[in-house]
Amino acid sequence: MAVDSLLSSPLRPPACENDAKALQFIEEMTRNADLVQEKVLAEILSRNATTEYLQRFKLNGATDRDTYKSRVPVVKYEDLQPEIQRIANGDRSAILSAHPISEFLTSSGTSAGERKLMPTIKEELDRRQKLYSLLLPLCARTGQGKRTILLVCQVRNKDSGGLLARPVLTSYYKSEHFKTRPYDPYNVYTSPNEAILCADSFQSMYTQMLCGLYERERVLRLGAVFASGLIRAIRFLQLNWPQLVQDIRTGSLNPKVSDPTVRDCMTRIVKPDRELADFITNQCSTDSWEGIIAKIWPNTKYLDVIVTGAMAQYIPTLEYYSGGLPMACTMYASSECYFGLNLNPMCKPSEVSYTIMPNMAYFEFLPHEPNSSGLTRDSPPRLVDLVDVELGKEYELVITTYAGLCRYRVGDILRVTGFHNSAPQFHFVRRKNVLLSIDSDKTDESELQKAVENASQLLRGFNTSVVEYTSYADTKTIPGHYVIYWELLVKDSANSPSAEVLEQCCLAMEESLNSVYRQGRVADNSIGPLEIRVVKSGTFEELMDYAITRGASINQYKVPRCVSFTPIMELIDARVVSAHFSPSLPHWTPERRRHVGK
Ligand code: AMP
Repeated sequence: MAVDSLLSSPLRPPACENDAKALQFIEEMTRNADLVQEKVLAEILSRNATTEYLQRFKLNGATDRDTYKSRVPVVKYEDLQPEIQRIANGDRSAILSAHPISEFLTSSGTSAGERKLMPTIKEELDRRQKLYSLLLPLCARTGQGKRTILLVCQVRNKDSGGLLARPVLTSYYKSEHFKTRPYDPYNVYTSPNEAILCADSFQSMYTQMLCGLYERERVLRLGAVFASGLIRAIRFLQLNWPQLVQDIRTGSLNPKVSDPTVRDCMTRIVKPDRELADFITNQCSTDSWEGIIAKIWPNTKYLDVIVTGAMAQYIPTLEYYSGGLPMACTMYASSECYFGLNLNPMCKPSEVSYTIMPNMAYFEFLPHEPNSSGLTRDSPPRLVDLVDVELGKEYELVITTYAGLCRYRVGDILRVTGFHNSAPQFHFVRRKNVLLSIDSDKTDESELQKAVENASQLLRGFNTSVVEYTSYADTKTIPGHYVIYWELLVKDSANSPSAEVLEQCCLAMEESLNSVYRQGRVADNSIGPLEIRVVKSGTFEELMDYAITRGASINQYKVPRCVSFTPIMELIDARVVSAHFSPSLPHWTPERRRHVGK
């Protein structure tokens, strides 16, 4: 949709009274965006005035934007780590928030190789719930029916301070808000709560899939939060359909589903249905799975799944499996805060823009200039308010939340694509510093560099070194995997590293990557074994020549540490001399490593 039509497009007419209320709320918030932001900041600053953090900056009771911006610094997670660590260690004083910290939300973003811990407060659940309640009214009603949504809830981790530390969605699905949600005929999950909440990811996925198959004709929407999750569910079906079919044929439940609560609930659902079993067998036993979603769930109107940002790489795969069903990207959110909504959820993935809801937090925007950190001593950052961002410009999102994050850099780069009333709408451009991502893992350049360095230690005994490398997130395989291209300098060809040594290098790289990556490999099965492709010597020089013929400056040329442009991929793949995969799983345990030195 063109920017000018976004500027003027009214929301579609409401389908019922509740929809009307939701749409009216959005209208009010977006019409009064600046006023709402002013109020939100004043509310946060007055309630948190006595916190240790804000006291440090001597606001002296001021709650206005100018004073706040002039006294309180813009920070990154690492700046707050001492405070966060104290909370994790059990300090219950009002450090960041005057309201008690109810739990930590574990982000998929990492710091020093570990998931970031985001302190949150109870009432944030209400704010998240409010945003969820706006989603469906925005989607065109597709008729009354059920929805199957495949979720993976992760096991709770406890930290030493006695606070729970878990992913934001686990926190939401385990909350009373979700478990005791009022019945909404338009939003019925085919998955029972017991299956969604099961901590074992196999049993959870298996039983959700089974329910989804029994209800296949009633499913109107099919979703997971992120595209990678939905693809994982399809892969799960590929691997497990014979057993699922057997359960449907016989009416008995796979003994691997051993959780008593889940078994108890499923025995009320599982019944023999030979016709359904034959149907699923016919669909799943064909060689091509093209359009499988539309075949098994024929009434599906659209996929409810995020395919923006790093997830855009999965669009072709989802199109293949769904036979081209539309994909609705509804929400933009994080562990720190839920940000906003796509007011036009049925638009094409490339046209998705998120409208930040001004009631969720106080938002500021740091103009993003490529190749600059945005914060230097000579030029203090000039952050702009929500309503002051300019069309077409890129910004990094900075938030001040009710839970006590003050002027916190989220690390997301957004581009303004238009306005709804006075609230800007943003295209999610990318997350800063992310080179490789398959699922929720995010690997940056320095992590990759460290992993290559660590792995290349194994080559020392062979008088061999890695002279250049680059990488690629290969999502054509299921699950996707990291491919690292290595150009080697072998000084003694009689003693070059064997295939086994290079396999060990793959594993050494995996051991060096952050805990979210390793969890994806070990517990979630969402990432396949890392692959090293050794390329002919001289390949990286050819890459440089290619870049120069396309206009790169020879003086400024830097080896790209990640490649995705097809001609470059073709060039580099044509020069691969050997490929090696990680032979085993790296280490990962659900326990957080204690912070070094803390
Ligand atoms: P987490 O810290 O694990 O909660 O992940 C939050 C991050 O996921 C955000 O800061 C974004 O980088 C990314 N994200 C969340 N929602 C979207 C979306 N709708 N489109 C693209 N990226 C998203």
